[in-house]
Amino acid sequence: MVLGTYKEIVSARSTDREIQKLAQDGGIVTGLLAYALDEKIIEGAVVAGPGEEFWKPQPMVAMTSDELKAAAGTKYTFSPNVMMLKKAVRQYGIEKLGTVAIPCQTMGIRKTQTYPFGVRFLADKIKLLVGIYCMENFPYTSLQTFICEKLGISMELVEKMDIGKGKFWVYTQDDVLTLPLKETHGYEQAGCKICKDYVAELADVSTGSVGSPDGWSTVITRTDAGDSIFKQAVEAGIFETKPIEEVKPGLGLLEKLAAQKKEKAEKNIAARKEMGLPTPF
Ligand code: SF4
Repeated sequence: MVLGTYKEIVSARSTDREIQKLAQDGGIVTGLLAYALDEKIIEGAVVAGPGEEFWKPQPMVAMTSDELKAAAGTKYTFSPNVMMLKKAVRQYGIEKLGTVAIPCQTMGIRKTQTYPFGVRFLADKIKLLVGIYCMENFPYTSLQTFICEKLGISMELVEKMDIGKGKFWVYTQDDVLTLPLKETHGYEQAGCKICKDYVAELADVSTGSVGSPDGWSTVITRTDAGDSIFKQAVEAGIFETKPIEEVKPGLGLLEKLAAQKKEKAEKNIAARKEMGLPTPF
């Protein structure tokens, strides 16, 4: 299955106005982790918090909804959240941990749970793993290059970044600037070229904007725990949902992009093998 194993797919958004304003799309990551914190399903969550430089995230352990809100919004450069999981358990003493991860991080986390060599103290503490869709990611210096040099604005003026409709979007207070993705592809992390997972297939719950209208997210529940926590949150009024069959552009687009990513990665993996280069698959 091109979207991995799942239980249900819906279009959803947070009902919290503040989260709607702060979040990238439907506010699912912030809303779900905040709900899990409030309901004591988790005691803390590792998220991509603000760093010392604009738009360069720093992993942080959020213990409150306000800390989660401070970390809301997508950053297009890597946040090494996996590294912080150990600290969350060892230094913060968290027994029930939540986190958000891109697909490659999700794979790493599941591997540590499957083969917990050296991390037994961590493996069973992860109670909610929220995965986000990811087509590519950029080193911070690359982001600076195409935002500051190609688009001519400084990082501190950027209010939001997004990828969609074949473009990289940069929003400032008074402007919306775009770059065609063909101009940004060359700046991607090298590993992204052989990555086959677009939709965080190993998460408890995966989410991203693709498939849903603006301001909404497409939510895929995958595990018993993820499905149950998301449904409890919907029941509690944290999210409003619509059947995915009733929204546009709908599931077809998500399936198409997930399939394209796999095909592209297969081609690049074959090319690397032919050159005698290592591949992870
Ligand atoms: S494309 Fe894959 S390897 Fe690259 S950042 Fe996203 S999940 Fe990780």
